[in-house]
Amino acid sequence: MIIYGWNSKNIKQAPLENYECSNCQQKQSVIAIFAKYVHIFWIPVFPYKKTAVIVCTNCKRETEENNIELGTKGAIQQLKSAVPIPKYLFSGLALILIAIGYFSFVGIQNGEKEKAYLSDPKTGDIYFLRREKETNQYNYFIMKVRKVEGDSLWLSYSSFVYNGIVTKLDPRDGFYDIMFSMHKDRLKELDTSGELKKVMRDYSAADGFYQEVEFHESDSTGN
Ligand SMILES: [Zn+2]
Repeated sequence: MIIYGWNSKNIKQAPLENYECSNCQQKQSVIAIFAKYVHIFWIPVFPYKKTAVIVCTNCKRETEENNIELGTKGAIQQLKSAVPIPKYLFSGLALILIAIGYFSFVGIQNGEKEKAYLSDPKTGDIYFLRREKETNQYNYFIMKVRKVEGDSLWLSYSSFVYNGIVTKLDPRDGFYDIMFSMHKDRLKELDTSGELKKVMRDYSAADGFYQEVEFHESDSTGN
């Protein structure tokens, strides 16, 4: 759940000369300028408005900007526009922009890394693919490079199919102990067509991608 809302911050307070309080008729008022801002989890994201309030220090009466008499209004407007909005009221916006920048940078880095892996396959590389024509939600399958021989790749399938890109193999899953060959160019075709979703190298043994499964004829689905 995201908690957000509006808040205001007193950014300036100054004595207001010769202003007579309509309640107690004393001339002891101050003018307070507030910046209203949007917050997300109480972190100010951006300010959107400045408001002014006259406060009588004697009787504590507060007069909102809209109810201030015309003669005084000009001076208040001047003060209001002269008071700068503190930069920290933009902290949330800065954080959001930094986060967007960071994630798009990481995304580009990952994309380029995967392209490099594809153009130079190595033993152990893992490919996540999606069968576009498959109507079943379990349409992701995984291939692992067993060896590279010239322009040929020797690959094994995982014994399970998945409903998305997984970061861990099911403990009962693993790569079959049988291989099939594929030309390197076919890999690029799979990438261009969008079937190839992710390339992985340098993964942890704890995630199960080193697991092996013995292939039985009965495992074959016949297609
Ligand atoms: Zn007063």
